[in-house]
Amino acid sequence: MDASDVLSLCKRRGFLYPSYEIYGGVAGMYDYGPLGTAMRNNIVEIWRRLYTLGEGFVEIDSETVGPEIVFKASGHVDEFADKMVKCRSCEEAHRADHLVKELHPNPSILKDKELDDLIRTRGVTCPACGGELSTVEEFNLMFKTVIGPGSGRVGYLRPETAQGIFVNFPNLYRFNREKLPLGVIQVGRGYRNEISPRQGVIRMREFNMMEAELFVDPEDKGWPRFNDVKDEKLKLFANDGREMELTVGEAVEQGVICNQVLAYFMWFTQEFLKSIGVDGERLRFRQHERDEMAHYAADCWDAEALLSFGWTEIVGIADRGCWDLSRHIKFSGVDMTAFKRFDTPHEVERDAIKPKYGLLGPKYKALGAKIGKALEATDPALMENNAVTVEVDGEKHVIGKEMFDIVRVKEKVSGVKVIPHVIEPSHGLDRITYTCLEHAYAQKGDMEMLRLSAAIAPIKFGVFPLMARDDLDKVAMQIDEDIRYSGIETFYDDSGSIGRRYARMDEIGTPYCITVDYQTIEDGTVTLRERDSQSQVRVNVKDLPLVTRAVLCGANIDQFVVADGSE
Ligand code: AMP
Repeated sequence: MDASDVLSLCKRRGFLYPSYEIYGGVAGMYDYGPLGTAMRNNIVEIWRRLYTLGEGFVEIDSETVGPEIVFKASGHVDEFADKMVKCRSCEEAHRADHLVKELHPNPSILKDKELDDLIRTRGVTCPACGGELSTVEEFNLMFKTVIGPGSGRVGYLRPETAQGIFVNFPNLYRFNREKLPLGVIQVGRGYRNEISPRQGVIRMREFNMMEAELFVDPEDKGWPRFNDVKDEKLKLFANDGREMELTVGEAVEQGVICNQVLAYFMWFTQEFLKSIGVDGERLRFRQHERDEMAHYAADCWDAEALLSFGWTEIVGIADRGCWDLSRHIKFSGVDMTAFKRFDTPHEVERDAIKPKYGLLGPKYKALGAKIGKALEATDPALMENNAVTVEVDGEKHVIGKEMFDIVRVKEKVSGVKVIPHVIEPSHGLDRITYTCLEHAYAQKGDMEMLRLSAAIAPIKFGVFPLMARDDLDKVAMQIDEDIRYSGIETFYDDSGSIGRRYARMDEIGTPYCITVDYQTIEDGTVTLRERDSQSQVRVNVKDLPLVTRAVLCGANIDQFVVADGSE
């Protein structure tokens, strides 16, 4: 099996379509068909519920276009770049680090010059035409646009949903009654002008993200539920080269993962991925090397899935420290701190300015008192060249050191302002969706099937009459309608042999099928067939409301067997 098998099934059966196909398609752009959309929605809904209902996060939905200053502040305009080489013959552009993948254990840490040297010394040429490659240059991945008519304002499409959360921090902090921790999620599109998009939906220019930003007290990166999961295992591939399986607790104790919150959310990510059908045996966490980390990250682990393309990042879990909020404070001038209240007020000593009112009065006359007040409120650390500048009634005054003393004062403070730190699990929804498809893909002879987890399967039950006559079809249609009206997706099919109909459902990952036959008319039972075991049992039609829900929650179908068809 390789990715082309999976992608061709996806196209044939309505999961994924290459975008603008009638015009020849565009590299790195895909549309989701009816089944792909339904499956992706199921993944989003499971994720959303885990974070909101499970962990108390709130969800927002922010703009996808932003003014330049936002992305200047976030660092993306200046630093969000990949290394590119162009073919001197056919002019095709390539990611330089991808071209030397086989020649270096981790090319993403190499500097431009090192990449250049590797390309020259190992004779790497253009994979498209064999031509000679240019020297390595940085290519910024931001999509630039103009906001408004005429000369407008420079804007950018967001490269991640996260910035929409950071710029709203003051609103969200108030919403959370000024308390930390504060968890916020957002689901939506991100845009990156990738140099060479490829591998189906793995590298797209417009893609779907599910991001969680957890704002925490910088001095307290403990997590209340950490103890509940400390004995759970994680497969870790650390940046010192060690590959190991450790419990969550051991990983933090040994300093492999730098804090409890990061470790907890790595485990949380693992459980989410397994719950939607990502194979735990083909899942690991790889720590970024220092030189590989994004400009904002203090520590970063990727959840990687083993796909036919090799180990592939599907979720990035980063400790972004105070990078984003500090930068937005600097660029916007807005206070984006949190107030950390002490249990009991602390007595603190600090330097303060004590104005010499006896000198200010004669010199500044009526303004003397106001300048004195302004001096009292000024931090002595702002003194430059033995003077401080204060503003009174809209006018600036430079006040020399002879007009005030600096004294040590004691005062009671009820708390301090802190810039929260951010832990971010950032999920690439398209990569996760594809991973579920590839890990579920199986071939049986010349048949193909998707063993999708029931939780994300777009259709949960196929409903068939054995024959489309003798009222079997009417009974089957009624069953189909009842299940659909109870909120569960079904597919009614009365064409072709039963074997063919089962095969069609297997191919799209439908976990169960219900067949109405002549015995149904006699004793009110139907056949319930399970996709993976292919076992079949007879169950009562009147039990279907319970049975359909129970099997989707993991109950074994044998539990509902009706012996010899009677109650
Ligand atoms: P990052 O912010 O780079 O860690 O990206 C977050 C997640 O988005 C990654 O873990 C990937 O799963 C996904 N991702 C990043 N770039 C792309 C892309 N060009 N196409 C599809 N998914 C992507």
